Amino acid sequence: MKRILISIVLAISALIIVSCGQDKTREPGYIVQVSIGDWHSCNYNPEDVIARIEEVSKIIPVEKVMVGWCLEREPYEKIGAYLHKKGIQFILYLPIFSEIEDMFQARPAVDLWGGLPPEELMAKVSGFRFNCPVDPVTYDSITAIFEKNFKDLDFDGVFLDRIRTQSFVGGVSGVFECGCPECAEKYMESGVNLETVRDEYEKEGDAFFSVEGYTPAEGFRFVNPVADAYFKAKGAIVSSQICRLADYFRNQGMLVGFDLFAPIVSQFVGQDYALLAQHADFIKPMLYRITDAPAGIGYEYELIRKSVPQAEGYGPLVMDLDFLKGQLEAMKDLPCKIYPGIEINRSGTIVNSTPEYLVESIRELIDYGCDGAVLSWNIMQAPDENIAALRSIE
Ligand SMILES: [Zn+2]
Repeated sequence: MKRILISIVLAISALIIVSCGQDKTREPGYIVQVSIGDWHSCNYNPEDVIARIEEVSKIIPVEKVMVGWCLEREPYEKIGAYLHKKGIQFILYLPIFSEIEDMFQARPAVDLWGGLPPEELMAKVSGFRFNCPVDPVTYDSITAIFEKNFKDLDFDGVFLDRIRTQSFVGGVSGVFECGCPECAEKYMESGVNLETVRDEYEKEGDAFFSVEGYTPAEGFRFVNPVADAYFKAKGAIVSSQICRLADYFRNQGMLVGFDLFAPIVSQFVGQDYALLAQHADFIKPMLYRITDAPAGIGYEYELIRKSVPQAEGYGPLVMDLDFLKGQLEAMKDLPCKIYPGIEINRSGTIVNSTPEYLVESIRELIDYGCDGAVLSWNIMQAPDENIAALRSIE
């Protein structure tokens, strides 16, 4: 009997060990993110990028390097050759619903009233205009750009960025993107009439967004059933478009990774983790606790509180290590690898990562049993002391 019990315990333990993000038997691997430049210009020499990766890989095991997304071939040829010599996977990093409009005729997303975002959110300088997620032009154009410019460059995978709608950065209107007729049709197929959503919001005001509570496993529970149905449909509609693109790349034999908002703010931007995880090899939830810009958790959360001040259930957020653990808890059963993004770079007033912050965050991920971490979001802007701090992780 005792032996049977031990066998059952061992079997259950094995099941726990293999579930996603919980594999404590495996050494953590690191992904290095390199923002090499936009479509039109590369900001760094490939030699400098290679030197930086070399420096980092002497300290920690670098498993993948994500580089994007300028169109010059030479940097990718040189960096790719170096990475493959070292046995490191080479991943192309591409934006999908934003920063694409100067490459093709993408249609900007509109809100439930058919209105475009304010001028400053449409301007190139902000870089955060979002386009309609269901516009078929996006799928066709992204795959065409890939085939023309990147397909023969020996990438092992692709990392899809900007795979969401606008957030509360665009106020309530931003979160209600996209409300164009094509999107309305998709919502209708999901059983949600966008006119009803609009009427309900106009009647309820901020209370439309009230929540009964938040748990990592379930996310926010909306009080209003119309809001609940709307956000569920939004997650399914936006995410299924991403999954289609992911399947295209997987059919090319490539690994696919996703850049995702932290679970606590993901519901508002159409990211359905459970659905997305089925089409990804790995995800990078942006667990940015100190970024004071879009995708920063505190930044996005405070915008909810400011945009809908009368909505109930959005208490103050303490972003300590317990909070970080709660966000990891939200992802523990996903069927893909999890490499949370932690800020290593410093960038003006937007993010000021310190060695202490970096080390405490990565240690928490590793202790929890994550597959690793993404050193985000541009290793070329990481200060030397943050690189040196990586020595104290293991
Ligand atoms: Zn649309």
